[in-house]
Amino acid sequence: MSKALIIGCGGVASVVIHKCCQNSEVFEEICIASRTKAKCDALKEKLSGGKTKISTAQVNADHVDELIALINGFGPDIVINVALPYQDLTIMDACLATKTNYMDTANYEPEDTAKFEYSWQWAYRERFEKAGIMALLGCGFDPGVTGVFSAYAMKHYFDEIHYIDILDCNGGDHGYPFATNFNPEINIREVSAKGSYWENGRWVETAPMEIKREYDFDEVGRKDMYLLHHEELESLGLNIKGIKRIRFFMTFGESYLTHLKCLENVGMTSIEPIEFEGKQIVPLQFLKAVLPDPASLGPRTKGKTNIGCIFQGMKDGQEKTYYVYNVCDHQECYREVGSQAVSYTTGVPAMIGAMLVMTGVWKKPGVYNVEEFDPDPFMEALNRWGLPWKENFHPVLVP
Ligand code: NDP
Repeated sequence: MSKALIIGCGGVASVVIHKCCQNSEVFEEICIASRTKAKCDALKEKLSGGKTKISTAQVNADHVDELIALINGFGPDIVINVALPYQDLTIMDACLATKTNYMDTANYEPEDTAKFEYSWQWAYRERFEKAGIMALLGCGFDPGVTGVFSAYAMKHYFDEIHYIDILDCNGGDHGYPFATNFNPEINIREVSAKGSYWENGRWVETAPMEIKREYDFDEVGRKDMYLLHHEELESLGLNIKGIKRIRFFMTFGESYLTHLKCLENVGMTSIEPIEFEGKQIVPLQFLKAVLPDPASLGPRTKGKTNIGCIFQGMKDGQEKTYYVYNVCDHQECYREVGSQAVSYTTGVPAMIGAMLVMTGVWKKPGVYNVEEFDPDPFMEALNRWGLPWKENFHPVLVP
C-alpha cells in the first residue's frame, strides 16, 4: 500500500490532498497532519467518499520527536511538507531518523530572520544519501515548475541557455483592497525584502521593488511587474551550466503596493517583537491575524494567473528564444478543488513531485532540486493533472 504523509492543512495542502485523492492509484493511503487537527478532519470528511484511504493527526512540526512518532506510526513512503518554511529542517531531521523520503515547496527560512536560502537544506545532502533516502526541494510552481521548465528547455531546445526571465503574473481580483494569495506572513516577508538577480556568477542586489517592467501576458493582458529575489534563482544559477543572468518578476497591482508601503511605513510588517500591553508580539504576525485568510479568497477571486519562463540561448550555433508558461483560471480551480489558482498552481506540482518519487520515476538518494531530474514525465503530468503549458518560440523579451 503506497502511503503519503501530508504535513500542514492550509491553502496549498488542501489542493495537494484533493489531487492525491484524484490520483488514488498512486496515493492509496494518506495521512493529513497539522497543528489544527479540526482542519484535517474537515477535509477528510469532505473527501472520504473516494478510493484513497484518509486518516488525520495532530502534530506540531517544530518538534522532531512528535514527527518521528507520527512517521513511525503511519509508515509513509514520503512526507509532503506543505506547512511553513520554518518547519523544513525539523521535518527533514525526522525523515532522516525514520529513513523516509521528503518533499517541500519552499526553502527553509529561520523564523527570526527574513532570509531564505538553500544552504541549510543542501547541508543535508550527504546524510540523506547515506540513509538511502531522497529529499526533493521546492516542488511547487515557482520554485518547482519553473525548474522543470528550465530542464525541459535545456533538454529539448538549447545547447546553452544564457538568460532566463521568470514571469509570475497574477491577474486575479479578489475584491479586497489588500489581501495576500498565500500565507500573508511568508508573502510579505518575501515582497518587502531587497530584490536581487543572478548575473555572471554573483548576486546583484536592488532596493525592494526598484526594478519595474510592463509585460503583456497571454490571456491576462498588460501588467506591471517588479523584480524580486526568489529562491529558484539560487539553484538554477548552479544547475543551468553557462547561465549568464536569471531574473524573477512578479506582478503587483497599485492598491496592493500602496497598502504595503503604508503598512511598512507604520512598522506593521516588522518581524522584530514589540511589547504590547505587557506581551511580546510580532507586528507581522498580528497583521496576518487581521488580514483575510488566503483560503477564504477562493470563492471571490476572478481572473487568471500566467506563470512561465523566457529562455534565450544558442542551438546549433544559432540564437534562440523560447517561452513556456501555464495559464490558470481562479474560478475553474475553485470549482474543481475549492481553492484559488495560487494554491492550485502550487499544490498540483507538489502532488506530481510526490508521485514521481513514490513511483520511482524520480529516485536518487540525496537532496535535490527539481531541475536535476528528467523533466519529461513531469511535463506530461502537468498536462494530465490540470496545469497544461503553452509554448511561444518568438516571445516579446523583457528589457
Ligand atoms: P497556510 O498558512 O495556508 O498553511 C500552512 C499550514 O501549515 C497551516 O495548516 C498551519 O496550521 C500549518 N502549520 C504551521 N505551523 C505548523 C507547525 N508548527 N506544525 C504543524 N503544522 C503547522 O500556507 P500556504 O498553504 O499558503 O503555504 C504552504 C507552503 O507553500 C508555504 O511554505 C509557502 O511558502 C509555500 N508556497 C510555495 C509556492 C511555490 O510556488 N513554490 C507558492 C505558494 C506557497 P494552522 O492551520 O494551525 O495554522
